[in-house]
Amino acid sequence: MRKLLMVRYGEIYLKGLNRPYFLKALVNRVKEAAKPFGGKVWLHDARVFVSDMNDFDACMERVRKVFGVHSVCPAIEMEKENFDAICEQADLMMKDVHGTFKVEARRADKRYFMDSPTINKKLGEYVLERNEDHLKVDVHHPEHILSVEIRDQAYLYCQVYMAVGGMPVGTGGKAALLLSGGIDSPVAGYMIAKRGVQLVSIHYHSFPYTSEFAKQKVLDLGKILSEYCCGMKVYVVPFTEIQMEIHEKCPEDYTTLIMRRYMMRIAERIAKKEGALALITGESVGQVASQTMEALNATNSVVSMPVFRPLIGFDKSDIMDYARKIGTYETSCLPYEDCCTVFTPKHPATKPKADKIKEGEDKLDQEALIEKAVENAEIVLL
Ligand code: ATP
Ligand code: MG
Repeated sequence: MRKLLMVRYGEIYLKGLNRPYFLKALVNRVKEAAKPFGGKVWLHDARVFVSDMNDFDACMERVRKVFGVHSVCPAIEMEKENFDAICEQADLMMKDVHGTFKVEARRADKRYFMDSPTINKKLGEYVLERNEDHLKVDVHHPEHILSVEIRDQAYLYCQVYMAVGGMPVGTGGKAALLLSGGIDSPVAGYMIAKRGVQLVSIHYHSFPYTSEFAKQKVLDLGKILSEYCCGMKVYVVPFTEIQMEIHEKCPEDYTTLIMRRYMMRIAERIAKKEGALALITGESVGQVASQTMEALNATNSVVSMPVFRPLIGFDKSDIMDYARKIGTYETSCLPYEDCCTVFTPKHPATKPKADKIKEGEDKLDQEALIEKAVENAEIVLL
């Protein structure tokens, strides 16, 4: 008999012939998550198991953050032949539980000597007889469920903790996230990573106009994301020279837009280098001047890669709730400036004209500026 973690997967169930590919990725991601705790991980019979961890609760919390995991249960594994021992263990597990309960047996091993309704009845009676003062049976709306799964062994558990869901990272290809220090972009990255996409992050830094604290804040956000994303590579791109050039040579009301076009071009260059096939931003329609339909078109048109904006239809308050849920909100709210807030025009163009953009951009040595920025990017592994 031993205590272990039973891990259930969600959407992978729906996969057909390529399910083994997704399961292999899931097991690998759970192995990485359990490694710091010395946990052993294996797949058996539509469940992933983790045992022998040196800190059970901490390891469970870590595994709950693995995309592809639907829920986890701390379970007791026992020999299934000894039903008396199973009854005693069930009694022990329900000793401190108060209220209504039912037993829910699942017999994956159809050759087991008792069917599920019989297990429910026998185990339920055994537990009730010994705990009548604090437990009552309610088969329709129980407050507590004592689950028994009969597989190669018997597994008993009474608590199920929901996990993050989604698909295992690495099964959905790779994309580059434009990561600012704001609330939106970490949430956008999380949403895409949750669908199994491996992320590489790109941050534009305008030292000394933006401080070391601002850069550290973004790396802290990257670190939070890395827990879900199985690590994170961040390109910190020096952006000061480009911003200064734009500020000096381009029409003031177009500076933000031209700056954003440069961000996209550089991001595409880095994405190609990294084998990433799409860009991700935290933009949402109407949130700021650079996120009108016209402005979004003007930034989109400088790259040929798809640009995914998972927050495009979200209200700010919904994005904030999401950020709280994934644990990035507090860090995002630290008051350090972003390069977008340096040299902001008083009246940024919300309906930019192509010829005016061209007039401004023609004054810049685009290729040299981009090349230099990419070359001098600092790479941080989190
Ligand atoms: P956020 O909360 O993500 O900063 P925002 O409302 O401040 O969003 P903008 O500043 O216009 O909006 O930025 C829109 C998107 O552009 C961001 O979500 C992010 O993807 C990208 N972005 C902005 N600033 C940077 C930066 N310094 N480095 C990398 N990407 C950036
Ligand atoms: Mg921002």
